[in-house]
Amino acid sequence: MELKGKVALITGASSGIGKGVAIVLAAKGVKVCLAARRTKLLQAVADEIRQAGGEALVIEMDVADKTSVSKGVQQLIHHFGGIDILVNNAGIMPTADIDTFKVDEWEAMVDINIKGVLNVTAAVLPAFIKQSSGHIINLSSIAGRKLFKGLAVYCGTKHFVSAFSDIMRMEIGKKHNIRVTSIQPGAVETNLYDQITDEDYKKGMEGLREQMTFLSPEDIAHSMTYALEAPAHVDVSELFILPTNQE
Ligand code: NDP
Repeated sequence: MELKGKVALITGASSGIGKGVAIVLAAKGVKVCLAARRTKLLQAVADEIRQAGGEALVIEMDVADKTSVSKGVQQLIHHFGGIDILVNNAGIMPTADIDTFKVDEWEAMVDINIKGVLNVTAAVLPAFIKQSSGHIINLSSIAGRKLFKGLAVYCGTKHFVSAFSDIMRMEIGKKHNIRVTSIQPGAVETNLYDQITDEDYKKGMEGLREQMTFLSPEDIAHSMTYALEAPAHVDVSELFILPTNQE
């Protein structure tokens, strides 16, 4: 599949994997819509893309807020005239044991990692169904396949993303010619650990850097382009990508 000229919405494009994906796709000629809450950061990513000759649109979007999502998707369609690729990437991973009762963090993970994926999918899918084409890429995680202490809610949200992706593929692949890919990375060098408020887990997560060579956001972006560039009759439904020295 030729990517040049396609339109992609990337949620969580203000940092980490989403930013890396936006830059790599834009370099391949994809018109990228950068969505997140921190618009200053999005603007900086857009400037970098435009300076390199790419096309980028910045949209302020809180994936947990249905109104914000539908407004943003309408703005994108108005600007680019359509959409071909959705990357559901926005996510958070506060880490702590359940008996610390960080209920606000549990709720935020459900709102962003689960409801966020549902909100954006619901806003984009009608356009994909109408045109009988489209590709949805969902960022699950190694935590969507394996279980880790401190991540009871996060693992739950990412197991949801893995399950949702594959069932959605069964329901809309053949029927509407829409491809669905779930990407399940191991440790990636991003800002994901910054929101961990539990000092012991924060130290533990930071310590992982000494045990393994983290993947880069570009490593994830390149695996994503493998799925996107596959011939139209090929749906790369899952990609499990780990640092070589991560168990
Ligand atoms: P970062 O913290 O660097 O990026 C997270 C992105 O999500 C930011 O751009 C942030 O933007 C966005 N985001 C968070 N909340 C919202 C919201 N309510 N609405 C819109 N955007 C939001 O982390 P990563 O790049 O690592 O994370 C990206 C995805 O990859 C996540 O789903 C994560 O679970 C997954 N992942 C990461 C791994 C890793 O090791 N880093 C491993 C496996 C999976 P803003 O704050 O501006 O809104």
